[in-house]
Amino acid sequence: MEVIYPGTFDPITNGHLDILERSLKVFDNVTILISNNTSKNNLFTPKERLKMAKDVLKDYKNVKVKLYNELLVDYIKKHNVKVVIRGLRAVSDFEYEFQMAMTNRRMNSDYESMFFITDMKYIYLSSSIVKELAAFNGDISFMVPSLIEKKLKEKFNDI
Ligand code: ADP
Repeated sequence: MEVIYPGTFDPITNGHLDILERSLKVFDNVTILISNNTSKNNLFTPKERLKMAKDVLKDYKNVKVKLYNELLVDYIKKHNVKVVIRGLRAVSDFEYEFQMAMTNRRMNSDYESMFFITDMKYIYLSSSIVKELAAFNGDISFMVPSLIEKKLKEKFNDI
């Protein structure tokens, strides 16, 4: 049984890691599934996002990191996924998560969505905020692992 935590992870943040840690209290193995979506204006390419997440998670023996190129429901069917993990921050996440879960359930009702609530200190943390701050040299040290902070600096120096 595969348990997945899907998302864009552009880039992976301490908020994502908080949700992952919580899910590992419940499940033995979790796959971080990085979407190859093109609808979002991502800063990092799918390959870069994959590499960064792999590097950050290299010491987590029971966590796999993968890219996916299809609709999430198709991946779920193909890999016999039983649980999809998502994170909840402020109230604003609820509507979007509810809509996604309901839409996916309509197409495939063979799995369950599970939501973990983040730590208070990450309640306003998002990849977008991290990118905005990093673009103007703001302090993001408590928001992302140091490796990600370095990658963001490199990226914005290149632009
Ligand atoms: P997506 O584009 O699918 O929303 P993200 O990478 O932005 O991908 O987020 C993936 C999941 O992680 C979502 O369920 C999101 O709500 C959750 N998440 C992101 N940041 C945080 C955070 N700071 N605390 C808790 N959950 C978070």
